[in-house]
Amino acid sequence: MRAIAQGIPCPTPRTRAGQRLSEIFGSKVFNDSVQRRRLPRDVYAALRRTLDTGEEMAPGVADAVANAMKDWAIERGASHYTHWFQPMTGLTAEKHDAFLSPTLEGGAIQEFSGKQLILGEPDASSFPSGGVRNTFEARGYTGWDPSSPAFLRETEFGLTLTIPTVFASFTGEALDTKTPLLRSCEALDREARRLLAAIDEPHVKKVIPTVGPEQEYFLVDREFFYLRPDLISCGRTLLGGRPPKGQELEDHYFSQTPKRILNFMMDVEEELWQLGVPIKTRHGEVAPHQFEMAPIFEAATIATDHNMLTMEVMQVVARRHGFEALLHEKPFAGVNGSGKHVNWSMADESGRNLLDPGKTPHENLRFIVVLTAIIRAVDLHQDLLRASIAHAGNDHRLGANEAPPAIISIFLGEELQSVVESLMQGSSHQPRGGLPLRLGVTTLPPLPIDTSDRNRTSPFAFTGNKFEFRAVGSSQTIAFPVMVINTIVAESLAHLAKELEGKAHSPETLQSVIRQTLLAHQRILFGGDNYSREWQQEAERRGLLNLIDTPSALERFARPENLELFERFGVLSRRETLSRNEVLHAAYVHRIHVEALSLRNLAATSVLPPALAYQASVANAIAAARAALPALDLSEQETLLRDLVTTIGRLQRAIAALEKAEHAIEHSGETRARTVHVRDTVLPAMAETREACDRLEALVDDVTWPLPKYRELLFAH
Ligand code: ADP
Ligand code: MG
Repeated sequence: MRAIAQGIPCPTPRTRAGQRLSEIFGSKVFNDSVQRRRLPRDVYAALRRTLDTGEEMAPGVADAVANAMKDWAIERGASHYTHWFQPMTGLTAEKHDAFLSPTLEGGAIQEFSGKQLILGEPDASSFPSGGVRNTFEARGYTGWDPSSPAFLRETEFGLTLTIPTVFASFTGEALDTKTPLLRSCEALDREARRLLAAIDEPHVKKVIPTVGPEQEYFLVDREFFYLRPDLISCGRTLLGGRPPKGQELEDHYFSQTPKRILNFMMDVEEELWQLGVPIKTRHGEVAPHQFEMAPIFEAATIATDHNMLTMEVMQVVARRHGFEALLHEKPFAGVNGSGKHVNWSMADESGRNLLDPGKTPHENLRFIVVLTAIIRAVDLHQDLLRASIAHAGNDHRLGANEAPPAIISIFLGEELQSVVESLMQGSSHQPRGGLPLRLGVTTLPPLPIDTSDRNRTSPFAFTGNKFEFRAVGSSQTIAFPVMVINTIVAESLAHLAKELEGKAHSPETLQSVIRQTLLAHQRILFGGDNYSREWQQEAERRGLLNLIDTPSALERFARPENLELFERFGVLSRRETLSRNEVLHAAYVHRIHVEALSLRNLAATSVLPPALAYQASVANAIAAARAALPALDLSEQETLLRDLVTTIGRLQRAIAALEKAEHAIEHSGETRARTVHVRDTVLPAMAETREACDRLEALVDDVTWPLPKYRELLFAH
């Protein structure tokens, strides 16, 4: 294919270059300062109480908020409102209604009541429910989430007031990813305060998880995108040979951004700033045409909404600039895939970070107790962390020498590792050049804030004052992994609180509880190269799980102890966990089924025809040469012909095998058996088909090859 991207002219900027960020930021958000200005004083105070302390909302408050919200939105030109929710598809969903009530006189007034703010009733029957929603009861409800501020979304044609909501069935069971996330934040808050009280900090009013997700993505020119049916229907290329220049030269990471791409980034940032998303960082990533965008961290639930918005806005703005933004974990074979590093910590109501090691013995003590709880949580619940990032796209990445392996472990950094080791050795231990470490009495040596990503191979790394969960996929909602971290840490905080309650005043008891806990869970700590083969063997010796693909990871998700854990902390009922389990399994099967169909179609209709045509032209050329010059040796050309004939034969057999494997999906049993069939039969058939296609790509006349190749997809600016 000899396509030359036309490119499109840069769209006209909506605001003049250099407009002050302070004027733009949050300008489309019904945020705290707008609420304070526009709500009656008592209503504002009541809303704050609900948000800060979880106090139930008094009657009348919702009506007053709805009214103010509507006036604010209409003044800015909004005609519609929508309840915005996050169903188990992992995407967002919405249904729009106009603020419209016709009058008897044939006119119209714009109305929006408290009831409409609080409750919506979209038809739930077409969203995945994993069996929770009976088909005869199709109703689902969206409920206002006042903790995430409403905002205005704008296109050239109008504005829509967008209200973040949760989504539940008629029976009150969660049908979304947001409800369990909110519940897990509550569990974490409760258990963290309980633990803090046990170590002499009873006055903390609220603990919230904080999250900063770093978003990786690829950009491809839209002209090329449209010529790749696999990118259109699957978000990744299902075939394509390696480009002559890949990422070997390591010349893309932090490289200078071409102007066309920089314009795109600035446009995205401006739009996100207006929506109150605090995007801070932009840079080139490791693979060609791969980039990263990162916000400043926020409360976990807001960060989740903002990451969903970031993914949406990136895709819309990319189109304006003649690009397509690819969020898939592995759009291209042979170069790095994309992830989403989820930075996670906890803060109290005054913003104090509970993972900040601090400078005084007491601050150090709090830090060590919290750290110990997290180490225990990750060790005990490796399976849940692993399941929270398991999906078809991420399977291409995990363990593929570019992303953390499927084995979950923690990296602490040298200094903190040695602190932990001396705690395990006990207070009688004499560390090199120092006094024995006694919690609450001695001060820890200062720990460096790690800004250099010293161990990029670790899936769960401590980076100075937060943990970074690096195995999350670029396309997935962070709601699920963050919900899992919150829940398992809550469980561990509760466990330590129970051990310490009434005893923490004695440094000896404290020291011994920490010591025992660290000793019991130290196998999860690993500072070496997570990509190495030795680590796989070592991890096995340590008894750590190595769940290498989605079916193996999901197999453990709904184990009895996990059902019990989610239920005990009020995050998911048994039925809710089981339904999620069903949805996750089904998503894996559907995703790969669509890929198999797309690949088969592409191989049969875009690869086979030019290959056969080229084979004919080579055969003709040989026949013509033989007729003209009978004495000449044509064996090289015959080798080419033979190569074409055998590879085409191989492709045809592969297509037939793929078709068979794919037809067998629906006869392979219930959902779990299907995931195994897909993994063991469909994926290998896809790999074989791809290999034959890629081999032909390297043989067939470039002028007749109808698909843009990697060299075009990855290198056109
Ligand atoms: P890097 O990971 O490249 O070293 P930074 O450390 O600056 O970069 O931060 C990466 C992400 O971690 C950012 O989104 C940042 O806001 C977030 N982050 C920083 N502190 C915290 C925290 N206490 N809780 C959650 N996220 C945090
Ligand atoms: Mg990072």
